[in-house]
Amino acid sequence: MSRDTYSRTSLEYSVWSRRRGWMEVTAKGIMRPRNNRLGDIPDEFDISDMTVYGKANSIYSILVENNLVQSAACMRRDWTKYAAMASLRELLAAVWRGYAADEDDAWKVYQVLSGLLLLGDRLDGVVMGLAGVMRILDIAGVAPQIGACVLCGRTALPGGWVLSWKEGGLLCPGCSSNADAAGTFRTTFDAGLVELLRRAAGTQMEALVPLKTPSMERAERLVSAVGEWASAVLDTRVTMFTWFRSMLEGVHS
Ligand SMILES: [Zn+2]
Repeated sequence: MSRDTYSRTSLEYSVWSRRRGWMEVTAKGIMRPRNNRLGDIPDEFDISDMTVYGKANSIYSILVENNLVQSAACMRRDWTKYAAMASLRELLAAVWRGYAADEDDAWKVYQVLSGLLLLGDRLDGVVMGLAGVMRILDIAGVAPQIGACVLCGRTALPGGWVLSWKEGGLLCPGCSSNADAAGTFRTTFDAGLVELLRRAAGTQMEALVPLKTPSMERAERLVSAVGEWASAVLDTRVTMFTWFRSMLEGVHS
C-alpha cells in the first residue's frame, strides 16, 4: 500500500496481506535494469499475489515473486479516490502498525480493500472513503454507533446531528444541544447525510454503487466529522479531510 526507496536498487513496501495484516517487505534489486524476476513493479494500492521469504531472526521479509492481480487504475484518474485510499492506508497504519492483526481481522480488512478497489471505477470517491473508514473502524472495534441517537434513540430529525466520542456515537439535534461540548465534535450534518453514512457503513459492497456524494459542501461536513472521530479514537491525525479539501481546491482553482 506504500513504497519507499530502500537502496539504489531496492524498494521497501508496506503491504496489507490477507493472512498477516500489515507487513514490511523488501524487494531487493527490483530497480536494477532489466530485472524481470519480480514481474511488474508493484505500485501503491495494487492487489497482488506476493511470495515473500522471511528469516526467523529478521523483521524484514524479502519479496521473491509478485503477480499483479488487479491494477487500481481508478486511483490514477480520480484524486478523490486516491485521497480516500490514502486515508485508509493511514488509518490501517494507525490501528495496526507494530501489531499483527489476527488472521480474521486481516482477512476482513483485505476483503474491504479489495472490494473497494474492484468496484473502484463505479464508486463515488467520497462514498469509497466513508465506506472504507467506517468498515475498518468497525473491524478495529472503534466505530461510532450510528443506528440512532445514542441518548434518546431517535432516527429521523432534520439538521444538527453530531458525533460524540464521549457518548460513543451519533447525537440527534435535541441531545447534541445538551451534550458535553468537550466530548462532542462541532461539525453538524443533516438527516440525509446520516442516512448516507449508515448506508456507506452497513450495506453490501455492490449496494454502494448507486450512492452519490450529495453536494461538495455537505459531503465535506460528513467527511470532516468522520475524520474527527477517527483521529480522536485512535489518538492520531487522519488526514482524509485534509486530502478531500485539497482535492476540492484543485477542482476550483
Ligand atoms: Zn437524541
